[in-house]
Amino acid sequence: MAKEDKYEKVEEDEERKTLTTNSGEPVPDNQNSKSAGPEGPLLMEDYHYLEKMAQFNREEIPERIVHAKGGGAFGTFTVTNDEISKYTMADLFSEEGKETDVFVRFSTVAGSRGSPDTVRDPRGFAVKFYTEEGNWDLVGNNTPVFFVRDPSKFSDFIHTQKELPGSGLNDPTPQWDFWSLSPESLHQITILFSDRGIPATWRHMNGYSSHTFSLYNEEGERYWVKFHFKTDQGIKNLDPEEAKRLAGENPHHHREDLYQAIEEGNYPTWTLKAQIMPEKEAEDYHINPFDLTRVWPHGDYPMMEIGTLELNENPDNFFQDVEEAAFSPAHVVPGIAHSPDKMLQGRIPSYDDAHRYRLGTNFENIPVNKPKKAEKNNYHQNGFMRADGNLGSGPNYEPNSFGGPVEDPSVKEPPLEISGDADRYEAQERIDNYKQPGDLFRKVMSEEQRQHLMDNFAEDMEPVDETIQKRQLVHFYKADPRWGRGVAERLGIDIEEAVPDELLELPDEEIAEAPVVEDLLD
Ligand code: NDP
Repeated sequence: MAKEDKYEKVEEDEERKTLTTNSGEPVPDNQNSKSAGPEGPLLMEDYHYLEKMAQFNREEIPERIVHAKGGGAFGTFTVTNDEISKYTMADLFSEEGKETDVFVRFSTVAGSRGSPDTVRDPRGFAVKFYTEEGNWDLVGNNTPVFFVRDPSKFSDFIHTQKELPGSGLNDPTPQWDFWSLSPESLHQITILFSDRGIPATWRHMNGYSSHTFSLYNEEGERYWVKFHFKTDQGIKNLDPEEAKRLAGENPHHHREDLYQAIEEGNYPTWTLKAQIMPEKEAEDYHINPFDLTRVWPHGDYPMMEIGTLELNENPDNFFQDVEEAAFSPAHVVPGIAHSPDKMLQGRIPSYDDAHRYRLGTNFENIPVNKPKKAEKNNYHQNGFMRADGNLGSGPNYEPNSFGGPVEDPSVKEPPLEISGDADRYEAQERIDNYKQPGDLFRKVMSEEQRQHLMDNFAEDMEPVDETIQKRQLVHFYKADPRWGRGVAERLGIDIEEAVPDELLELPDEEIAEAPVVEDLLD
């Protein structure tokens, strides 16, 4: 039965519950406030009216600063290949057929809570696995890379995605200014302005951990891992003009598509796969495997299938299950851990901090966020809205001799050797901002997709100041000269005026094949 069927008419004589105040007092009249005489002013003693408005005035909570607009559903993850259990002691992967309940939230990044779904933007793809060893949150996107590789640039980048601080209007200038001054963003914007930048639905896109995480097994061996959810519905994207039409017609197009598919029993599925790298290989792999702007080529690290994610249950209440859902990359389970990826390191403290601001210190007691299959046992106490027993009569400290919970050394992560001087490192070895976006343009995209990419870039850059346009054209040119020339032509700019002579003098093949073209402009 569709959840909306609850709006079906009831019989006239059907017995109904009595309307009450929050304290349970029956309400005699919900249509007429209490006034001094039929046409007179209202009386302060009309507590039911006061409570109604007080509650109404507090209905909104702070919206997420990013990923504010979204939707979600419950489902199941089932292991189809337990080969991964060689690499990790994580119980959820321990045997084929093992099922774990999940909640998944999809979102756009930049827009506010009511903004349209069909805009060009990365999509959040956040999965909460309710495992027997606690909740594991894989808080990824529908793209395998990100705009920046250092978290100190994150808030600046997000400001460029929001309305202008003065007028409150949208303008593409800040984003192109930032991107053209941050060449590490080229890979992500290539995917963003490709056909995949506007998915047809959430069901028709992949999800990626994007970050490198780690796995460890009972023998204390560590492996680096990247997770990929491959859509079983196939990749499908929206034509940009159609997307604009839909944005006006139905801002909740993607939310509605997921809801309807599940109501109809047409449950979407994704195959979870992993790329696995033994710990030591990270040291001399030709790229930094912890750089969030890079992928691990499949030829180097092939995909291993793990299981199937299926979404099969719509939330009962959107606010309680979707708005109050709180995911955090800090939430891992024994056998799965973090990595030196600087963006991941920056996200670990930041997400729970944001949830404490948005939902309060006890946000993990909200049903959708609570561990479902594991017990929460610790000595944290009190705080606003604590109502889960709050440790009862104690003990509320550790160590204690009174039977309180104790640590379990068997789940300890193996030690990680680190070295180096504490410093701020602008120049990092193994960085090349152009090779992978160039490969995507040259080797992965069809000619039609390349044309779309250049059209999409030119359309978005058209209103931007020419100095910024030219700076960005150099990045395109370095990734592939055809790409630089193609966008320049569409913008009506002579590429020779944008690109420095040292670069123009190189034959195309040399630019495309040069492993590092980073310093050609310096
Ligand atoms: P492969 O040929 O093995 O992989 C290419 C990947 O590109 C496939 O996973 C494919 O995803 C994805 N892809 C196809 N079209 C697009 C598009 N328009 N936008 C974004 N991704 C697309 O080559 P490599 O692994 O050597 O990677 C080559 C380039 O492909 C990389 O530089 C990167 O830009 C891109 N890429 C790589 C990924 C990786 O994890 N290695 C993941 C995604 C993109 P699918 O199979 O779902 O069609």
